[in-house]
Formats: sequence, C-alpha cells, structure tokens
Amino acid sequence: MNGIGLFGIITVCSTLAVFIVCIALYCRIQTKRHFKCPRCGARFKVAGMRTFFASRQGTDRLLSCPQCGMSCYMENIPDEEYTEEVRRADGQRRREEEEGK
Ligand SMILES: [Zn+2]
Repeated sequence: MNGIGLFGIITVCSTLAVFIVCIALYCRIQTKRHFKCPRCGARFKVAGMRTFFASRQGTDRLLSCPQCGMSCYMENIPDEEYTEEVRRADGQRRREEEEGK
C-alpha cells in the first residue's frame, strides 16, 4: 500500500516536472517569436505563459490585437524571419534608389 502511494507521488512529481520544463522551454522559444495581426498588420510580443494557455490552431494563437483590439487567430512568426524580411526590403529599396539616380 505504501509502495503504491510513493509510486503515485513520484508519478505526479515527474509529470509536474515535465510540464514545468515544457512551459519553461516554450516561454524561451516565445521570447524569440512575435505575432502579427491579420487586420491592421501590427506586430507584437506576448508573454509565453499567456500564449501557452491560449486557444490554438496549428501554430496560430487566439489573441486580441493591442492596436485595433480585434480578437482572432494570430500568426506566430519567428523574429529572425521578420528581421530577414526587413533586411531584404531595405536592400530592395536601396537598390531601387541607386537605379533611380
Ligand atoms: Zn490589429
């Protein structure tokens, strides 16, 4: 009886530990990701804990936009992808300016 009780405690503790590690990892990943509002195009970051419990659809999360207030599924985009996009757009603009001269 005691053995079963101890086993139960170990099971609960290990499940909890795995869960905590998962949340911690998720939060760390989320610090390098942001969301984009499909309506106004605003980009914003949300605390990992909040998105972890938010309703999801694939990688999209149900959030409300801080700019226009719309509540819908927002695309979860890695920051690198965005900086890469900005850099490319910047290079394109610079090229166009040089050609215009
Ligand atoms: Zn918006």
